Amino acid sequence: MPGPTITNVRAITTSPGDGSVQRRLIVVKVETSEPGLYGLGCATFTQRHEAVRTVVDNFLAPLLLGRDPRRIEDIWQTIHVNAYWRSGPVMNNALSGADMALWDILGKMAGMPVYQLLGGKCREAAAIYRHADGSTVEEVEDRVRQFMEQGLRHVRAQMGGYGGKQPLPKSPDGALPGAYFDPDGYMRSVVRLFDHLRETIGFEANLLHDVHERLVPIEAVRFAKELEPHRLFFLEDLLPPERIDWFRTVRQQCTTPLAMGELFVNSAEWRPLIDERLIDFIRCHISAIGGLTAARKLQTHCELAGIRTAWHGPGDVSPIGHACNVHLDVASPNFGVQEWGGFLEVEREMFPGCPEARDGYVYPSDEPGWGIDIDEDLAAKYPCPEGVLDWTQARTPDGSAVYP
Ligand code: MG
Repeated sequence: MPGPTITNVRAITTSPGDGSVQRRLIVVKVETSEPGLYGLGCATFTQRHEAVRTVVDNFLAPLLLGRDPRRIEDIWQTIHVNAYWRSGPVMNNALSGADMALWDILGKMAGMPVYQLLGGKCREAAAIYRHADGSTVEEVEDRVRQFMEQGLRHVRAQMGGYGGKQPLPKSPDGALPGAYFDPDGYMRSVVRLFDHLRETIGFEANLLHDVHERLVPIEAVRFAKELEPHRLFFLEDLLPPERIDWFRTVRQQCTTPLAMGELFVNSAEWRPLIDERLIDFIRCHISAIGGLTAARKLQTHCELAGIRTAWHGPGDVSPIGHACNVHLDVASPNFGVQEWGGFLEVEREMFPGCPEARDGYVYPSDEPGWGIDIDEDLAAKYPCPEGVLDWTQARTPDGSAVYP
């Protein structure tokens, strides 16, 4: 059946709010020959946003012009291998942006929200978790209670962000600058934090914690065991993707539920963990793995193995990416929980139709496609700043550069 063809593919970059290097958003817009019919996708890779833009504007646009936007799978496969080298970040983000935009177009053509295209709702809304942080156990407790009063049943608890903020042991003279942290002090502080939270709040709240892959493997195994009595909802990114073999040891040692996948970019990384049932939640950054097409396959793979989803949803995902998370969440029988940072006021204005969160749940739009748009004029008023991130320059007390 003849239909619209793709007439333009381009990246829109914007940094709503204070212009932070940590919030450089990338949206892909795919336009078609049918007047007013276009789609939006999230390609956000904050740390290398200009690289993603180059791939979208200089390589995907000429590749996709003239194609039928309804042939999503064929276009996905075509983009995936077009550079011959494949399956890494930057190109995956560009692919994701195009892929999500095509799903948006298909939904608009069908007059249905994307969750209907996925088989319809399994639930009305997705349970969310938010981040409680503080410099003392009492501060964290207060934040957890505030979220519980807002209706949340899941809260992530950290002490001083990733790696903690304890006093640091002496570093060698001349140690290089960086984001220093002490793994021993960090682990002790987190065990103390969860002792406190379970004593004061009890076991009502579903508590989560993110290690951010900062421990050496055997310490990570011990840490997961130490937290077992605290019955976490999940322990996140206990190990880096390069050390996934160690998850077998963790599994043999304790029943702390494990969430993994924020840094994964291809199936070679997640397949062993799923096939051997070594994790309990998959939580990839959907715009780093190839968009909804890739995430839907991964979700189904996990469903068959009894593993739940908890897609990455921090501030450096665009509202389009959050919408994609939520549409998939409500259509997935094996949905677990959705990370939620909330939107800035300017973001809501820039992206009309942002998913709405209330009483601990986020609801998808019922409008066709993702149900969300972008005000390009407003986006242009918040250009992305140049610069590199500091927090990813992690170092341990002896000055060694380590995973962030
Ligand atoms: Mg994380």
